[in-house]
Amino acid sequence: MTAVVIDGKAVAGELRVRVTAAVRHLADTRGIVPGLAVVQVGGDPASEVYIAAKKKASAETGMRSTDHHLPASATPAELLALIAELNRDGDVHGILVQLPLPPQIDPHQVIAAIDPDKDVDGFHPLNVGRIAIGLPALAPCTPLACTVLAKSVHASLAGLEALVIGRSTIVGKPLAQLLIAASATVTVAHSKTRDLPAVSRRADLMFAAIGRPEFVRGDWIKPGATVIDVGVNRVTSDGRHRIVGDVAFEEARLVAGAITPVPGGVGPMTIACLLANTVKAAYALAGLPAPAL
Ligand code: NAP
Repeated sequence: MTAVVIDGKAVAGELRVRVTAAVRHLADTRGIVPGLAVVQVGGDPASEVYIAAKKKASAETGMRSTDHHLPASATPAELLALIAELNRDGDVHGILVQLPLPPQIDPHQVIAAIDPDKDVDGFHPLNVGRIAIGLPALAPCTPLACTVLAKSVHASLAGLEALVIGRSTIVGKPLAQLLIAASATVTVAHSKTRDLPAVSRRADLMFAAIGRPEFVRGDWIKPGATVIDVGVNRVTSDGRHRIVGDVAFEEARLVAGAITPVPGGVGPMTIACLLANTVKAAYALAGLPAPAL
């Protein structure tokens, strides 16, 4: 058996078409162009790449994006003043603070300062809490991307055994909440989990968010399972750099029913979910019902 390779770019492209239509509708009917403010502190090279991709993708949907770049030496007060200004700005519907921040700045303080209605990363404690109690909220982009990709294979996740490997605040924990909301039976594994291969073999749906290259082996996977690989790991072999996931793809694809590649799986879908969150935020801030995305 060889798994279907889930084309993250294609699924993301379909969502981006719907986002573009929602952006156009808002502009045509209300004269509102969704605006995404991208805040960067310092010049982390990986962040530069992610920010460029997000800005290009937002422009392609017809949104506006604005850049706010502070030096690596910026104080917490300077960043908080910028966030306060963006919170007040009626042309800004989404605020994205690119992480990581320099060590003198507490990311929790910064995230808590963002207007929850403009928190398109879905990291504000109010949005985290709303997701946990099943209320509508801006959900974090990568976990949302994972559920959209899983639903591209399974019309319903109800009753499926879902395993999330990783319990980080930005991926594992919110992903578990979204899966519970989708009525999956959810297990969350982490570095203290006993016999992870045995736990893995029970999973109809596996989400790997560990940050270790090719950590999940083919013989951990239940035959026919759907595997969503969140990992982005830079490895060097034979003097060449390449990006691999947390799952040993070539082994896993011989066992799984469907699997996301790295790159080209969760990454593009995450950006599409950021765009979806921004247009949703713009509708909500205009007092309109959420667009169908
Ligand atoms: P993280 O904060 O470092 O969390 C990693 C999680 O993996 C932790 O919960 C950790 O357990 C668990 N873990 C570590 N070693 C383990 C082991 N031996 N067995 C089982 N679990 C283990 O990482 P993250 O921010 O969630 O990111 C995870 C990966 O996703 C990274 O490769 C990151 O680059 C990638 N990522 C991709 C996107 C995207 O858009 N594609 C977005 C975000 C992140 P403990 O809690 O017990 O330490």
